[in-house]
Amino acid sequence: MKNIRIGYGYDVHKLVSGRKLILGGVEIPHIMGLEGHSDADVLLHTITDAMLGALALGDIGTHFPDTDLKYKNVDSRILLRKAYGLVKEKNYELGNLDATIVAQEPKLKPYILQIRETIALDLNTDIENVSVKATTSEWLGFEGRKEGVSSSAVVLLTKID
Ligand code: ZN
Repeated sequence: MKNIRIGYGYDVHKLVSGRKLILGGVEIPHIMGLEGHSDADVLLHTITDAMLGALALGDIGTHFPDTDLKYKNVDSRILLRKAYGLVKEKNYELGNLDATIVAQEPKLKPYILQIRETIALDLNTDIENVSVKATTSEWLGFEGRKEGVSSSAVVLLTKID
């Protein structure tokens, strides 16, 4: 395998009442939250998928199936750390990552720094290597109708020698 590998992740979760909104491991005050088997942290799922994808290790559903009761309401930070453990086992580490969350509301800007810090902590890297951005979809599509939140991410892994 080459010395650098790139991975891409994309995920969507539905917005519903009666659930917490957790993005990047940070609980964000909002009237709705994301539905899912785990804590439905769409951002961390995206990054986890990108990590696995970079080394062609399959996807988050393969490693952490939603049919497994063990992962019911699981903190997605645990899944991210496990996926990163697989990356380290293959002798790679994070170079940098860049992610975008698409949500019509709430405004995520006040939480971006804390989200980046949380991810950097879990991946044992500098915050400069973790970019998280948030945008709206200008009221278009499912994000714009506030039916769900999507996220995408690219990660670059570099070989440890
Ligand atoms: Zn997900």
